[in-house]
Amino acid sequence: MTNALPYPALHASHSGIWICSVDGETRAIGKGEAIGRVAETPHILLNAPLLGQRLGYPDLSGLDLLELFAFIHPAQFIVPTPAGLAKTLGLTPPDQEADIAALYRQAATLLLEGLKAPYWKEREGAWSSAQALYRLRWPWAQEVGKQLEKPAQAERWLFSKLDEWEEEAPRPAPRSITVDKPETLATLDALTGEGSEERQGQKNYAAAVTQIFNPRKIKGAPNMLLAEAGTGIGKTLGYLAPASLWSRQAGGAVWISTFTKALQRQLDRETRRIYPDEETFRKKVVVRKGRENYLCLLNLEDALQGGFAGRAAILAHLVARWAAYSKDGDMVGGDLPGWLTTLFRRNGATALTDRRGECVYAGCPHYRKCFIEKAARASQQADIVIANHALVMVNAARGREQQNPPTRLIFDEGHHLFDAADSMFAARLSGQETIEIRRWVIGPETKNRGRRRGLAARLADLASYDEEGGRAIESARHAAEALPGDGWLQRIGEGEPSGPIEALLHEVRAMVFARDESQSADAGYGLETELTDVEGPMIDAVANAATAMDALLKPLVRLGQRIEHLIEEGPDWMDAPARARMEGALSSLGWRRDTLSGWLSLLSRIGGPADPDFVDWLMIDRYEGREYDVGICRHWLDPTIPVTEVVTKPAHGVMITSATLKGGGGWETARARSGAVHLAHAPQEFEVASPFDYPNQAKVIIVTDVKRGDMAGLAGAYAQLIEASGGGTLGLFTAIRRLRTVYARIADRMAQSGLPIYAQHVDPIDTGTLVDIFRDDPKASLLGTDALRDGVDVPGQSLRLVVMESVPWPRPNILHRARRLAGGGTAYDDRIIRARLAQAFGRIIRRADDHGHFVILSSAFPSRLLSAFPEGTPVERMPLEQALAEIRKAKSEMPQSGLPTETSLMHDNRQ
Ligand code: SF4
Repeated sequence: MTNALPYPALHASHSGIWICSVDGETRAIGKGEAIGRVAETPHILLNAPLLGQRLGYPDLSGLDLLELFAFIHPAQFIVPTPAGLAKTLGLTPPDQEADIAALYRQAATLLLEGLKAPYWKEREGAWSSAQALYRLRWPWAQEVGKQLEKPAQAERWLFSKLDEWEEEAPRPAPRSITVDKPETLATLDALTGEGSEERQGQKNYAAAVTQIFNPRKIKGAPNMLLAEAGTGIGKTLGYLAPASLWSRQAGGAVWISTFTKALQRQLDRETRRIYPDEETFRKKVVVRKGRENYLCLLNLEDALQGGFAGRAAILAHLVARWAAYSKDGDMVGGDLPGWLTTLFRRNGATALTDRRGECVYAGCPHYRKCFIEKAARASQQADIVIANHALVMVNAARGREQQNPPTRLIFDEGHHLFDAADSMFAARLSGQETIEIRRWVIGPETKNRGRRRGLAARLADLASYDEEGGRAIESARHAAEALPGDGWLQRIGEGEPSGPIEALLHEVRAMVFARDESQSADAGYGLETELTDVEGPMIDAVANAATAMDALLKPLVRLGQRIEHLIEEGPDWMDAPARARMEGALSSLGWRRDTLSGWLSLLSRIGGPADPDFVDWLMIDRYEGREYDVGICRHWLDPTIPVTEVVTKPAHGVMITSATLKGGGGWETARARSGAVHLAHAPQEFEVASPFDYPNQAKVIIVTDVKRGDMAGLAGAYAQLIEASGGGTLGLFTAIRRLRTVYARIADRMAQSGLPIYAQHVDPIDTGTLVDIFRDDPKASLLGTDALRDGVDVPGQSLRLVVMESVPWPRPNILHRARRLAGGGTAYDDRIIRARLAQAFGRIIRRADDHGHFVILSSAFPSRLLSAFPEGTPVERMPLEQALAEIRKAKSEMPQSGLPTETSLMHDNRQ
């Protein structure tokens, strides 16, 4: 079939461009010729947006192998690189870049031939989907169509194929029991497996965790444990052992909350040891995420039936293929390949989830198959619920999960609790936020808004039955017209605001521009100013905005009361689905009411005395000079106060654990950052050091001769360090601009050395996929910012060098300034930096046989921060040349499997 495929293939990297003709001949070509050819004839390629970026031709399109893979093997993992593709298809990854274009033709042939294979698992639905994609002119549709035979019987449509959830009786409250320590250790032994190495630290940890499962003695005073467990002690199994034991014996659920997707994936793997049988596992362990992560079937149906056009419609069909085979419908970090939506430049993907809270619950024809409802119901019966910090807080704050509120909570990656709470409990009265409420109340105001409907349409039956409810809806609709509408940003920029809220935002914007002292004005990034000394027109604008908000809040409150009344009254027409819909409406109404109340309270304080519990400021969100949002922000000075009230105190047992809970400081840091200081009684504290031999496995090098602000020097240092290490480098930056500059300066050089380099904020690839690519290739290096500091779990040789461009000082914004003042000035900053250093350092040694260097390119690194690194870790200040020599030596002493040798580098250099 190879000869039959009438398409050439194209591959481009920083080191060259190659084309493989339909006769199988490969030759190197120039950029101009490549662009001309792809514009003329469809080419087989891999990752069109990335290729387009490499060629400087962003609109590039063609026969993308990743799209074909997503059609044929939906919900299957693949590393989206030539080597990843080759490995998945059982082909030999090419040694030389020049051979990659030919590989693409071979891969396309294999994939297409697979469509005829009798063992192809994902056949159902493919024929119908291919027909629809043909009508949408999907480039692969013709070739796919040639291979697929029309099924003898009509295929089941996705929405009839998915399982329905079953209603189950509410679970009784868990029994009050004590978890036996010897039994916990026996469970741990069973989980770690016979013959595994003896880990005393893990055993002590597991025994300590049992105390959070003891019966609570006083209401509002949970059994609380703060536990710092160094990397490598086997923390997850350490807490899963007592958690699974308690769950089994008490009949309750343990919620495990994480911050990163990497840990969620790890927990998904490790909980399988507790429930090896797949069916039991699916019942006992449930991953819960915020609803905006899941595919909304109703939105998908709209998209498939004409709501989306062009490329977005093609994406919708590929997502529908995936939905039929997905484990849980999670579009973000689940089994939908992270790269799929980026292939479509994110066009349409967010509209497939329920981001705007427009769910119609039981009024939805797919309610019984809805992924969100399924996950919520499954978690009510599960033993282990894997969630994230934001969801746990949102559920608690909005009174969800009332039927089975979590009584035992384990916050892993607990060092992120403070930041998660900071976002969750903040108020932001901005253009973007207010327009969302307007849309939620009024519904579509322009053509072509799919099925989005306003409050009146969603609650039509209530309005026709209950006159007062109907009047409340009408008043709310009328009042919502005072909120910003489409085009608000332009209007306030031009000084022509419409309505009281836009008028307020106009004043805010003017005040920020007048007062900002952050020196960001020229850089094109966010601007802010404190909310003090407000007078004149601003005070008037605030008063008018508050009146308008109050006019909206009142009918919403009234409407909520009418719905409650209706649910209690239970009229004849209100069957179970209608009741569920009313309950759903009540919950989304409650959330909007709370938001409006929060804004009103924020406005009421403007011009008055400052509240010491809060930090208020005005801001303009910008990115590269373009404004995105304008508004007023309010954060808790200490966001652990609300977390303690709504999450911790109502629970019976809570553990907050992390490898860096103390953040390189003492227990007082852990107590303050976890909110334990707000409890009436002191928490239990437990600590176990990492079993790794840091003095022999790792070294910290502070490079003394890269001058601050010397971008050429910084880029040169990165390039040399990556070369010395032969790749396997994680480069961490504190500013996106510097990251981009360094990447732009070194990308070609790295490619010439045969060392692929990827970068967050540069490559059109999502962060999770970038980490997958990095993990898969020991020669690859990855540059990134904050999210990579502790979201990367790459054991083994793929990560052997971490390079930090500078000391990760906190951004000196208004919020930080206030917390610094309250938290002890320099000592507060030092705690934050130590925590960041400890997290970044923690990326290097993930296993007992890992070795690596941690390099900081800043001679001004203060010695007082060195306590961030594990005790005994050697630290040395030295010039770059000496650092390079050490890293080269370390590389030469490592096992060479998969690492580039000097010879192969020379060979690659000649390409
Ligand atoms: S129930 Fe709600 S979220 Fe689920 S598919 Fe229907 S509209 Fe979407």
